[in-house]
Amino acid sequence: MKNILIIGAGWAGLCAAVEATRRGAKVTLVEAKSELGGRARSVQLGGLTLDNGQHIMIGAYRATLDLMASVGLNPESLMLRCRLSLLDKQGNGFSLKGPAWLPPSVQFLLGILNCSQWSLKDKSSLLWLATKWTLQGFRCETKYSVKDICKGATDTVMESLFLPLCLCAFNTPIEMTSGRVFLRVLKDAMFTVAGGSDFLIPRCDLGELFPHTCERWLLQMGCEIQKSTHIKSLSSLGILGDRSDKPDAVIVACDPINAARLLADINPQWADRANRIEYTQIATTYLRCNDSSFESLSAPVLMLQSDSTNVGHVQAPAQFVFDRGFLFEGSMNVEQSQLNRRILSFVSSYATLSNDQTASAVLEQARIELGLSHLEYLGTITERRATFCCKPELIRPSIQVSERIWACGDFTDGPYPSTLEGAVLSGMRAVKEAFQTLDMH
Ligand SMILES: Cc1cc2nc3c(=O)[nH]c(=O)nc-3n(C[C@H](O)[C@H](O)[C@H](O)COP(=O)(O)OP(=O)(O)OC[C@H]3O[C@@H](n4cnc5c(N)ncnc54)[C@H](O)[C@@H]3O)c2cc1C
Repeated sequence: MKNILIIGAGWAGLCAAVEATRRGAKVTLVEAKSELGGRARSVQLGGLTLDNGQHIMIGAYRATLDLMASVGLNPESLMLRCRLSLLDKQGNGFSLKGPAWLPPSVQFLLGILNCSQWSLKDKSSLLWLATKWTLQGFRCETKYSVKDICKGATDTVMESLFLPLCLCAFNTPIEMTSGRVFLRVLKDAMFTVAGGSDFLIPRCDLGELFPHTCERWLLQMGCEIQKSTHIKSLSSLGILGDRSDKPDAVIVACDPINAARLLADINPQWADRANRIEYTQIATTYLRCNDSSFESLSAPVLMLQSDSTNVGHVQAPAQFVFDRGFLFEGSMNVEQSQLNRRILSFVSSYATLSNDQTASAVLEQARIELGLSHLEYLGTITERRATFCCKPELIRPSIQVSERIWACGDFTDGPYPSTLEGAVLSGMRAVKEAFQTLDMH
């Protein structure tokens, strides 16, 4: 039986632990925090269980959905599936139309043709781009940004489709985002499988969505989990010496800063690449609407008018608002469903303001844009290192670090940006490569 040590229990580390356990290994999982889940976890705020940040998946996240199912969860009952919708309160904007069984490219075409606010010029510019990308196999050179590859799209198409999509999926403005990775996500979401672009929005807190059940499954399968244990160096664990009880393989599933610290002596070039990774913030503001006439928003998620890329002069930081009452209604956890009634979470991607500034700007945005009153401020959580900047020409650290050490995490070399799917894919790959190497020896 192989002994595998995994350091870090975000979704990448949890995926690696599940996969290694399924392959028959004896797994030890070590996590610095008292809660598993890393950057996608539940937090306590004002006596409520909320999330460190609103998360959303899409139907194309096959690896993540399969991972959830593999520990006995039913993703479709834990998340609300709805068609891709970038509509504001008035119903303006882009959304996908047509029955779910239609091929994804036909749905995309119908979405374009049905967008009533777009002129013929807007629609033909997008059709022309989509045709060009299809003919190019959704690939481009690594040097191009999203702004570069979208040349030819009208300002309206940029503002109502590509800008929000890019901020939502990458948390960076179009000029800072890799065109190549954007095309890959676009292809998987819009042009590959039916339902790939569907939004899957959690109807429970993030702990319940996966980490808690995963922890129970791992313990049942004999995995050892050490929480609140911050690994400071690999040599102090005897991993690098000749001890007979040392693990056969180590998988470092930490964030890049901690991973670089642990691996600097073993592979300085790898650590240098990890240290070059830059991050952008996401701020999530929770408000409760106590207006007696308010029941819920018109949809579980609405797009907002935001000027978040206007660094230094931001007045409307949030791009999306989620209605937790709408989402949790009818969910299996009746208590949580009650507690979340009338709670709205406002997502400010590419956040640059302080918590206080975000709070007052979002309150103003909610009043003006949504016409809400009697708003109670519950709190703002700003994750400073929410997502890595998936820039053009970024060279991401490899999965294999040395003969017996592998790394995983959303930032490691892979096809996806800083997302749950990117984290899960990397966890799978690290275990696969580790087993291939160990089986050869
Ligand atoms: C506010 C916010 C909103 C987001 N929204 C979305 C979204 O809508 N959709 C989406 O797909 N993605 C979203 N993301 C991104 C997503 O959360 C991340 O891509 C994903 O969680 C990364 O997982 P990971 O396992 O790679 O890294 P992490 O989650 O960072 O996990 C690393 C783990 O390693 C542990 N660790 C670090 N050092 C040590 C050490 N020395 N010893 C022991 N343990 C250590 C950490 O405590 C942590 O638990 C969002 C992120 C944030 C913050």
